[in-house]
Amino acid sequence: MSEPEQDVTLLDELLSGLPDATLIVDADARILAANTAALAQFGSHLVGNSLFGVMRQPDVFTCIERARATGEITEVSVQVADASLDSSMRVTTRFIPRMAKALGLTNAMVVTITDISGTEMAEQARRDFVANVSHELRSPLTSLMGLVETLARSEIDAAARSRFTRLMFQEGRRMTKLVDDLLSLSRVEAMERLPPTEAVSLLEVLESVLNALRPQAKTSGLSIDFEPASFARMRVAGDGDQLVQVFRNLVHNGVKYGAAGGVLTIRGGLEEQPGQTMLRIDVVDRGEGIDERHLHRLTERFYRVDSHRSREVGGTGLGLAIVKHILNRHRGRLTIDSRLGAGSCFSVLLPPMTDDTKSS
Ligand code: ADP
Repeated sequence: MSEPEQDVTLLDELLSGLPDATLIVDADARILAANTAALAQFGSHLVGNSLFGVMRQPDVFTCIERARATGEITEVSVQVADASLDSSMRVTTRFIPRMAKALGLTNAMVVTITDISGTEMAEQARRDFVANVSHELRSPLTSLMGLVETLARSEIDAAARSRFTRLMFQEGRRMTKLVDDLLSLSRVEAMERLPPTEAVSLLEVLESVLNALRPQAKTSGLSIDFEPASFARMRVAGDGDQLVQVFRNLVHNGVKYGAAGGVLTIRGGLEEQPGQTMLRIDVVDRGEGIDERHLHRLTERFYRVDSHRSREVGGTGLGLAIVKHILNRHRGRLTIDSRLGAGSCFSVLLPPMTDDTKSS
């Protein structure tokens, strides 16, 4: 039989190919070998020390004990608190009797430690999303059910019947808008990594958005300040429909939350960025404005400053999330500048179309 020391060296070579932190420990949980991932994660002085010096959680101890007692593969998830953040780790233990024999030991185990924080966060985000969607659908659905029940009573007069029908229509429209926005968001996310190639004129995009929203702005007593000449030469390699969606959402928000200011300005310009000049389109209102503490969260799905206010004006809390994903796909950005009571400026930055991005 070869020398145990030599086999441990061979073992090191084998372990170095494994992506997760992996240790070989003896029956007393003393570390015999550790791969590069383990050394990077837990420090260079592992070999010779006890596993329980590295992972102090009692669950890890129980997991090793159970593996030793049953000879089965055991697994446990533990929280590891680092200086700055908490991580979730999955510890898997497996006995390797034949290798232990080859190493001249009575017993040995392979312990794999996998960082599952990313997976857990994604799972948590998925759960939150499902809970949010259910919550958003439940309130119009509850109203709708109540109205249907009331309508089913025969003593309702014609005027009340017509009022209830109108309310039912409004609730139905709220649900349709929510489902439309959810579908939009999922389509946009699915395409986020496909760079768009159409040659798109931002002037045409803005004119089509403004033509559609002018009547609503007028009803809200809002005039639109838009100088077409500033956008005449603005062209991007983009997806025309998605860019219409970006500016429709921003202008619509200006109409919904900026009406008190009386004027909504859409202005264009250039912004110098390191290594690149970007096209800049500002949608500026002088309405209610937003407290600074909310600004960094506005593009999260379902984040609203005031849910009641958003619902009242027909919002779903998804508009800015859709804007963000579309701009990511266009290698662009959204910046928000706002002051409570003084209005908001939503700026879209997009890279201009260059000759090599032109397709048709
Ligand atoms: P919503 O459908 O609720 O309008 P958005 O994602 O478009 O959702 O916007 C998120 C939130 O940001 C809104 O609920 C509102 O609180 C705030 N917001 C967006 N645009 C403006 C604006 N122009 N002025 C003030 N608040 C705004």
